[in-house]
Amino acid sequence: MHNHLELLCDFSELNWVFNESQSIDSFFEKLVDMVAEHMQTTVCSLYLYDEDHRELQLQATHGLKEDAAGSIRMQEGEGLTGKALSEKRSIVSGKASNHPAYKFFGGVNEELYESFMAVPILRGINKIGVIVLQREEGKPFSKAEVVVTQTIASQLANIIENARLLVDVNRSGFADVERPNVSLALVRGKSASDGLVKGSVVVLRRYQDLTEYLSEMPIDVLTLNDFHSCIKETASQLESIQVEVEEQLSDVASLIFSAHLLMLKDSSLISKIETLIAEGNSPAKAIVEAANYYIGRFSKVKDHYIREKADDVRDLAIRLLRNLSSQKDDLCKLRDKIVIADQLLPSDILKLSHEKILGIVLVSGGVTSHVALLARSLGIPLVIADESRLLDISGDSFVLLDATIGNVYVNPDQAVLEIFTKKQQQEVALADLELEGVTTTSDGERLYLYCNINLLSDLKVANRYKAEGVGLYRSEIPFLVRSDFPSEEEQFLVYKRLAAGMPGKPLVFRTLDIGGDKVLSYYHHEKEENPFMGMRSIRFSLLHRDIFARQLRAVLRACAKSDLRVMFPMVSSLEEFLEARRVLFDCQQELEADGKDFCRAPKIGIMVEIPSVVDIIESLALEADFFSIGTNDLIQYLLAVDRTNEKVASFYIPHHPAVLRTLNRIMKSAEKHDVSVSVCGDMASREIYLPFLLGIGVRNLSVDPVYLPRMKKACAGIDLQQAEKVAQKILALSSIKAIEKELL
Ligand code: PEP
Ligand code: MG
Repeated sequence: MHNHLELLCDFSELNWVFNESQSIDSFFEKLVDMVAEHMQTTVCSLYLYDEDHRELQLQATHGLKEDAAGSIRMQEGEGLTGKALSEKRSIVSGKASNHPAYKFFGGVNEELYESFMAVPILRGINKIGVIVLQREEGKPFSKAEVVVTQTIASQLANIIENARLLVDVNRSGFADVERPNVSLALVRGKSASDGLVKGSVVVLRRYQDLTEYLSEMPIDVLTLNDFHSCIKETASQLESIQVEVEEQLSDVASLIFSAHLLMLKDSSLISKIETLIAEGNSPAKAIVEAANYYIGRFSKVKDHYIREKADDVRDLAIRLLRNLSSQKDDLCKLRDKIVIADQLLPSDILKLSHEKILGIVLVSGGVTSHVALLARSLGIPLVIADESRLLDISGDSFVLLDATIGNVYVNPDQAVLEIFTKKQQQEVALADLELEGVTTTSDGERLYLYCNINLLSDLKVANRYKAEGVGLYRSEIPFLVRSDFPSEEEQFLVYKRLAAGMPGKPLVFRTLDIGGDKVLSYYHHEKEENPFMGMRSIRFSLLHRDIFARQLRAVLRACAKSDLRVMFPMVSSLEEFLEARRVLFDCQQELEADGKDFCRAPKIGIMVEIPSVVDIIESLALEADFFSIGTNDLIQYLLAVDRTNEKVASFYIPHHPAVLRTLNRIMKSAEKHDVSVSVCGDMASREIYLPFLLGIGVRNLSVDPVYLPRMKKACAGIDLQQAEKVAQKILALSSIKAIEKELL
C-alpha cells in the first residue's frame, strides 16, 4: 500500500487541476486512475448521486469497459453499490455475486472482479456518491484498505461538492456535462415475470396521439366502401380472436374482445365516422377524429372503469386503422417483438399474449400485482424499469431482456450477447428436465412441492412438472378482468375446470383476495388512502356476504369430488376466521336444502400473512385445519413496507431477523398442534432461503409452476441436518448484515 498521506496530497493537486480545467469528466477519469493505482486494485469506479432522480450513475471507471460510464444507473438501495449509499455504510464482499443484494451488470466486465468494496461518499447528511473498488476473486479487501478508502471518500466529498457548484453556475445538468446523449446500453429494472428473450422492440405509449398513425396511412385513396369492408373484416377478426382466447384462457377471456365487438356494432361510433367521411374526410382521418372525440369524453370521467373504456376505443381505432391500411403488417406489428410500454392493464397483457409478443418492459413507477401475475402465468417475461428514456429508443433497436434478474440490454455488443445466449440455453435445459414426481432432500427427507395457480392455463405447466397439487389458487384473477362480479354459475364452470386440471390431488382454494393493489374496475370507484390497510380480502368478503356466499357455493359444488381445502386470506383474528367458516357452513346447509351435490368436508385453513395472528397462532391452530404462510404480505406488514412501492424496495427484506423468527414461531406452534403448514409466498421460490425454511421444519412449498424444476433441484441438494444447524445459527442473529453473511 502506498503512503496514505501521499494520496491525500495528490488529491489537493487534483483539486487544483480541476479548478483550472473546468472539465469535470477528465477530472473524474484522472481521479479513478489515481485511486486504482494507489490502492492497487484492478477496478476503481466512481458513482455520483443524482438527487432529482434518486439514482446513482457511473461517472468514471478505471478497469471496467471504457464506455460503461454514463450507461450504468441504479436506484438508491439497489445492488451492493446502491445499498452502500442508502445505508451510508461501507460494504465489503469476497465474492460479490453471492451477496443477496448483488445485481449483475452485463457488458462491462464486472463479473471478472468478485472481490468488492463500496464506500459511500457523504457530506454531512448529503449523499454525494459511491466509490467502488474491485479485484479478482481470492484477494479480499482488508480492514485497513477500507479505512483508507473511507478517508479518500471523505476528501472526495469536498471536491465533488465544488464540482456541483461549478456545474450549477454553468447551468447545465450535472450528469449531462460533455455527455448529452447518455447511452442506454443497460437499464436495470425489477423482474416481475421470469424469462430470457431477445428481439427487436416496439414502443407502445398508452397516451400516444392517434393522429400519429395517420402519417403511415394512405389518406386520399380510401372510400366509404373501403371503410365498410374494413368494419366487416374487423368484426370477423374480433370474433375469431374471442373464440381462440376463450379456448386458451377460459377463466379470464370474458369480454375483452367482445367489448370491442360491441363498440363496432354500436351505431353512435360508426355513424359518427360515416358522417365525417360524408363531410369529405378520409376514412382514416374520420376514424381518428371520432375515436378522439370519445377518448376525450371518457378520459375526463373520474370513474376509472369508464376511463378504461377510452382504452377500448383507442385499441379498436388502431385495429380499424390497421385493417384499413395497405401496409397492414407494418402498422403496430407486435409478433415476436419486445414491447416497451408506459402503462398496462391486465387486459392488455392478455391482448399482447395473443399477439405473440416475446416480452415486455414496463416503464412506470409501480406495477399492480395482477399485471405481474398474468404475465407470469402467460409465460411472458416482464421487467419493470423506471427509465422513461426507454420510450424514446428507436424501433430498430435490438434488446436482450433478462427478466430473471431485471436487466434490459439495448443494442448489446457481441460479448454480452454470448453470455446472454449461454444463460438462455441453461434455462431451456432446466425447463426441459424430466422431473421425478417425488421431491426429497439429499438425505432422503420427503418434501412436497405444490403450485400456485393464477390462470387455469398454469395447470398444464404444473402437471408437466408433476406438482403435488395446487397449494394456492388465486381466485381473484377471474374477477379482475371482468366487467362485473361473475355469477355463481360462471364461477362454477371455472372452478370445475380447475378441479379437473389436477384430479385426485389436494387443491387449496383461496377465497377472494381483492383490494390492496388488486383493484376491480367495476367496484373500486373510490380510491382508498391506504389500500393495503383497507377493505381487502376477507374483510371485503365478510362485508359483502352475497358475493362471498356465491363464491363459496360455486367452489363447494365444483369440487364436490375433490380434495378441497378452502383458505381465507388476510385473517387477522380468531373471530374473523370463525365468522368466515360460519358462512361456509351456512352455504353447505343451503346447498343441502337445494339438493345440490357439494363437498361435505373440505379442510378449512388460514393464510398467515398478518402479524397479529402470530401471537394468537396457537388458538387458531386449535380451530384451523391448516396454515399457509403468505410471505409476500407478511413481510410487507411486519416491516411496514408497501410491496408495490419501488421507492422502498430496499426495505423489503425477507431475511430480516424479525421475519425469520416469526416464520420459526409459526412453525413451532403448528408443530405443537399438529397442523400442517405450507409457504406459498415468493420466498418459497427463492433458493437462497430454502435451507432456512427446511431447517425450521417447512416441508410444503407452493411456487409458481415455472419454478418447480429449479426448486426441485435445489431441494435435492440440501442436507437437512446441515440446514437445521444453519437455521439455528441464523435465528440467533439480530442483524440483517450478519444473516446475509450466513445465507451466502
Ligand atoms: C402472499 O401474500 O404471500 C401471497 C401468496 O398472496 P398474494 O401474493 O396473492 O397476496
Ligand atoms: Mg397475500
